[in-house]
Amino acid sequence: MSVNIDTEDLVQKDRDYLWHAMAKHNEKALPFIARRGEGSWFTDMDGNRYLDGVSGLWCLNLGHGRKEIALAAFEQMMSLSYFPLTLSHVPAIELSAKISELLQGSYRTFFSNSGSEANETAFKIARQYHAQNGNPGKYKFISRYRAYHGSTLGAMSATAQANRRMKYDPTAPGFLHVPPPYSYRSSFGDMPNSDLAAADFIDQVISWEGAETVAGVIMEPFISGGGVIIPAKEYLVRVAEICKKHDVLLILDEVVSGFGRTGKMFGFMHSDEVKPDIITMAKGLTSGYLPLGATAVSSKIYEKFKENGTHNHLRHVSTYGGHPASCAVALKNIEIIENEQIVQRVANLGESILGKLHDLTALSKVGEVRGKGFLYGIELVEDKVSKTPVSEELMGNIIAACTKKGLIIGRNGDTVPGFNNVLIIAPPLSSTEEDLDFVVDTVEEVLMEFCK
Ligand code: PMP
Repeated sequence: MSVNIDTEDLVQKDRDYLWHAMAKHNEKALPFIARRGEGSWFTDMDGNRYLDGVSGLWCLNLGHGRKEIALAAFEQMMSLSYFPLTLSHVPAIELSAKISELLQGSYRTFFSNSGSEANETAFKIARQYHAQNGNPGKYKFISRYRAYHGSTLGAMSATAQANRRMKYDPTAPGFLHVPPPYSYRSSFGDMPNSDLAAADFIDQVISWEGAETVAGVIMEPFISGGGVIIPAKEYLVRVAEICKKHDVLLILDEVVSGFGRTGKMFGFMHSDEVKPDIITMAKGLTSGYLPLGATAVSSKIYEKFKENGTHNHLRHVSTYGGHPASCAVALKNIEIIENEQIVQRVANLGESILGKLHDLTALSKVGEVRGKGFLYGIELVEDKVSKTPVSEELMGNIIAACTKKGLIIGRNGDTVPGFNNVLIIAPPLSSTEEDLDFVVDTVEEVLMEFCK
């Protein structure tokens, strides 16, 4: 890579001062510095173009450069630059009403800055709800192995990916983990409906723990970062029934799946019958243009915070949570999603892309291709009988080969030791059909080369 003077200076400063998220410190490798973005593409310092096949960190749903969104932030900053939500402001009011409308129910929203915080908020609300509903002993949360719910201490405690927790344990007490509905590698053996067995296991765990100690179950409708795990449709319905039976709150983490990623406005909407108690969101809420997290709770829960009593309100605040500019950006983002019928588009095009990616299972190392909407996982194995995960090295080579061809893709990094073997693809929802063809063709070419 040739570097000009400017770039050399930046590279040096990057090496001297910037601490990258999740990255190994490799003094030899050049930092990957992006300069400009346009739609689903960005350019590096040398002007090389890349299609961002993972939407940044799954958030850049409308791609780069939407002037209307930038203007919404500008105008809001000029009219009211900051105001706390201990009081109120117009964009937060409008956005909370819009979220309730999109959720097709009566929901009240607490705003924060990120997905991790949205989940932290959900845990506090759930515990306090039970306490104020006469069940102060209900404090435990159940999540699934391979799940990611954030990196702050509580959210990390719900995150059940061993590699992410090493060196930070002990995590917060009261978080339990159960097997995911992962039929390709089911914890319940080779049986039909193993996903339902995974749901029923939650029922057992709640009973074994004592339902009077369990506050909530938190899950993504479709595990994303943990390897794109798509359960049978009945799984979430069954989990919702189990939660209801035990008076356990169903908390759905829609940080990735919210706002169209899976071909519905929210992931849980693939199961009509499911009415979650709490829904957490971030990422696609603003398409990554500004930080914003949201925790929406059903009116049944909020009721318990309304009753008189000195300590009955939620003792929780975030200086920047629900920042006026972030809320204005979210409103504009949602307006574009609706006007451009992005969700319908993702549903329609997603099916055909998944079909094309499915054809790759003809290759010897492609164990399974999974997906929903614009979210895909390709699980790579040494052979299809043993299902031994491919090596870290092969995964690295495949991702590097895609980068070389101008396509950024990801993988389920750090999920389970030795099991970082799922390629992840999640392009911006506004990608053109040409962009999407490029994604599929490039992945196909590279896998043909490495996974014959
Ligand atoms: N939940 C899920 C499902 C996520 O994928 C993420 C982020 N990757 C989070 C929560 C945490 O979001 P944030 O990084 O905004 O804290």
